[in-house]
Amino acid sequence: MAWLTVRSNDGADPLSSEDLLDFRFNGEEFRLRDRQRGIRKPRQLRSALSLTTVYRPEGANRPYEDAIHSDGRVRYKWRGTNPLHAENRALREAMRQQKPLIWFHGVGDGYYQAIYPVFLVAEEPELQQFVVATDGTQDIPVAPASVAEEALRRYVERTTLARVHQPVFRSMVMRAYETRCAVCELKHGQLLDAAHITPDSHAEGIAAVTNGLALCKIHHSAFDARILGIDPNYTVHIRPDLLDEIDGPMLRYGLQERHGQQLMALPKLRSERPDRQRLEHSFERFRAG
Ligand SMILES: [Zn+2]
Repeated sequence: MAWLTVRSNDGADPLSSEDLLDFRFNGEEFRLRDRQRGIRKPRQLRSALSLTTVYRPEGANRPYEDAIHSDGRVRYKWRGTNPLHAENRALREAMRQQKPLIWFHGVGDGYYQAIYPVFLVAEEPELQQFVVATDGTQDIPVAPASVAEEALRRYVERTTLARVHQPVFRSMVMRAYETRCAVCELKHGQLLDAAHITPDSHAEGIAAVTNGLALCKIHHSAFDARILGIDPNYTVHIRPDLLDEIDGPMLRYGLQERHGQQLMALPKLRSERPDRQRLEHSFERFRAG
């Protein structure tokens, strides 16, 4: 996990399958994820080491649905339907021993965002799945039956969003926009954000790259503050009163001269470009402001 932290710039960059092959343990090659299967159980260990959720392009269903459930936690499906399958036993063993696991989320073909440590906190055999807790929530009961249940659920959901969905969303958006601001093409990853078009709190919305835009810090803040709007035809608009203002180069080049221009960076794949209906709604909010 320490190696992953260094290799991914503390989670800022997704890792490719090739990157992951570089890992060595005691000088020997040691695979962190299984290339063919979702669950990796090295022969040297008694329990599973990592889980993988494969990337599916927009519109395609994931084979293993990992949406946040009503208790705020994520689920991970068994391998197949046999509870005694070796991989399911390896997961159960990880749960029994409370071993930290690595969860590789596909964010593009052959690219993964690693989330760790995660813990399996319960099993739901009737639904053929395990309950996954992200860092810090494994001590919270699965189905708290107290008056604090709603508060707990919200807490766990917030933690899950922050630990799992936000980094996965960011990685998907950065890959799709090739780490460029959609408005000004700034290419410095540390100055870029994955902005939401619809500020969705729902897991599905958050995971959709079509609800995202790669924006530099200034353009992200301007977009959220409705100083900058993007219409459904991908044209940039600046709030009228700012167009007449006189200020320094950031206002002039960064904002005023963007007015009326097309977005400079868009995903190559049409299916990953910003959803026009979402933009229409967001543009209405911009105009109302
Ligand atoms: Zn920008």
